[in-house]
Amino acid sequence: MQAWATSVLVENGIVAAVDPTSSAIPTHCDEVDLCGGCLIPGLIDAHLHLTLGSASLCELDLSHCASRGVFEARVATRHAQLPQGEWLLANSWNEADWKGHAPGGEWLASAQDRPAVAWRMDRHACVLNRAALAHIHLPAAIDGGRIERDAQGRPTGLLQEAAAWQLVVPKVPPLSRERARGALLQGAQMLREHGLTAVGSMEYLRDLVDVHDALRDQLPLRVHATVLDRDWPIDDALQAAKDFATSDRLRIIGMKAFVDGTLGSRTAAMLEPYCDDPTNAGLLVELAAAGKLNAWLELVRNAGLSPSMHAIGDRAARIALDAADLARKRLPETTAADAPRFEHMQSLHPVDAARMRGRFASMQPLHKADDARGAITRLGTARLPRFFPFRALLEAGATLAFGSDWPIVSPDPLRGMRAAITGLDLDGRPFATEQNLSVEEVLWGYTRDAARMLSLPSGVIAPSYAADFTLLGEDPFAWNWQDGTPKILATFVDGV
Ligand SMILES: [Zn+2]
Repeated sequence: MQAWATSVLVENGIVAAVDPTSSAIPTHCDEVDLCGGCLIPGLIDAHLHLTLGSASLCELDLSHCASRGVFEARVATRHAQLPQGEWLLANSWNEADWKGHAPGGEWLASAQDRPAVAWRMDRHACVLNRAALAHIHLPAAIDGGRIERDAQGRPTGLLQEAAAWQLVVPKVPPLSRERARGALLQGAQMLREHGLTAVGSMEYLRDLVDVHDALRDQLPLRVHATVLDRDWPIDDALQAAKDFATSDRLRIIGMKAFVDGTLGSRTAAMLEPYCDDPTNAGLLVELAAAGKLNAWLELVRNAGLSPSMHAIGDRAARIALDAADLARKRLPETTAADAPRFEHMQSLHPVDAARMRGRFASMQPLHKADDARGAITRLGTARLPRFFPFRALLEAGATLAFGSDWPIVSPDPLRGMRAAITGLDLDGRPFATEQNLSVEEVLWGYTRDAARMLSLPSGVIAPSYAADFTLLGEDPFAWNWQDGTPKILATFVDGV
């Protein structure tokens, strides 16, 4: 199968012919000049957070702060701009950027008495100032989470995993419905300008109902959503997911569960401890911590939906595979619609890589480029062959579907392609390049194979498929990816 076309005939949003002969072209036909560009199947992001990412466009960006001082200075500027009473929300800090400037003192003190919350770039940890802490009742401990305390036992303001999600998220005032809808359209349009024609989005039901539903005819790309609601029991959420209307641009395809945390926060569940924290092997969270993952997976599959499991550490990946194998024994998978999706798979034991044959690995090449910078310290050299095993998974017969996890990292699919093709980390150094993939392999991961995993009508340029295309300014097969990325000239959805 060819991953590009030089001309294509589209009728009613569907591909009618590829490279049609002139006699096959109707006389009244609108023509679009491709300007010498390279037409590929519409790019797809298999895993991002559209509502969260769009809302984050309204938050303060704390990425690339060179020190804690710069961090606080940016917070002070934002504080001066915000109306009284509004919470200060920020994102994308990464302590790796502070280089030796150890955290200490009150977090976000420059927001003064305004409640302020700043999320780490992986959204698996956040810091709060004293004014925000005053809104939250902190228990002594929380399952699947951590509350950092100082020597006197006082909370420092740093909360991780379940402590951040369960204690902080419900207390942060949400955007008004109107602002959230405006942000969503802005976010979706921005994605489309990056060449994306469809996304697999992780969403809470209340956002799908309050924000997405009213916009379903205005969405500039296809949104195939996976529901994040996972409070046990899940019967109500399952029913609501099944009842949610299905249309051309918006539908629910599955439910999501978290097995562990992240490598960056050393909360990913590992078979052996972290090299730089020898008493810590990460942790299982939520349903996996409560021993309910198997039951959850079976319920989701029985409902005809696709279970999606966040598994970053090699122990988490093994637990997710065990659950999927168990459910498959009782209920064989017939189509992609109810097949499990393994999200992230950032560290995988070779034995488990072989078990991924015929399964979907939903991975994010830019996470590799980002996590590469701390991988040796955290995992040590012996475990590096398990780190983002793109090639090992392909050779084992797994299907790779690529995405970004935006807003955790940039949603630019071409930057993700570059990371998977070159193995360059975010500092521009090659890392674990034995897992590099060819341009064609990567392209299918962002098109055909992502479409299969998300049950999209697009993904290849062939008759009867949706006319979703991305027009690149340069030929990706001839492009030198070491130098940068090709340009996006146009994005077509339903032929428009
Ligand atoms: Zn995610």
